[in-house]
Amino acid sequence: MAKKSKSKDKPRQRRERRFEPRTAASPTVVYAVGAIGAVAMGAGAWEQLAPLVREGGPEPLKAALYILAAGALLVGVAIWIGTSGEPALRVGDGGLAVEKSGLRRMPWYAVEQIQWREEAVRVSGKDDSGAEMAVVARLATQPFAAAWIVKEARERIPKVVDVPEDATLPEPLASAGETLPLDPPQVVGRRCAASGKIIAYEPEARVCPRCDRAYHKAHVPEACECGASLEGLRTAKAG
Ligand SMILES: [Zn+2]
Repeated sequence: MAKKSKSKDKPRQRRERRFEPRTAASPTVVYAVGAIGAVAMGAGAWEQLAPLVREGGPEPLKAALYILAAGALLVGVAIWIGTSGEPALRVGDGGLAVEKSGLRRMPWYAVEQIQWREEAVRVSGKDDSGAEMAVVARLATQPFAAAWIVKEARERIPKVVDVPEDATLPEPLASAGETLPLDPPQVVGRRCAASGKIIAYEPEARVCPRCDRAYHKAHVPEACECGASLEGLRTAKAG
């Protein structure tokens, strides 16, 4: 825990917000469909079994089987629409992340475009290993993730944000999502964004506070590609 910090100004704790997907359909619809299905299953089963109970009763209705099948189908539909298959999303200092069999990250510097299409915020770019990646935050299922992606991206990487001001996004409420602490970005082994030089050890790295681009300390430009001023990182502390 007690890590020796070389810089006097202690960097602020990095954070991200985690957003669980919402079900796309209204809960009332899910319950109604499920209830009708359950009732139909009950009715179907009753028609099947009643004759066994009532001696000399009529033949079980053939229809009972269909009612039973239809009921089971409706229950299945209710379960399906009630549980959206979408992953939880994270938005924060480290960029975007998708929770789908592990955690896949798209750092801010690797975001290529953010669009608003078909009631969804659509992000395309690369993950932290350089592979193509897309993140979709639908208004119906991930309204606050969508709002926070746009808010943070407008502050960090405004050049790639292609979202109209009147997009029907909710307010990015500070209370939305669950706030989690985030580790510092991994810089060792990355290439300096200006010189291409491999960063061999952490003290020689300088990281853009807005987009997480890493630079070798000897090659920090005046401004980052994202537009942030890097003057503060250029002033060499070496005496
Ligand atoms: Zn930057």
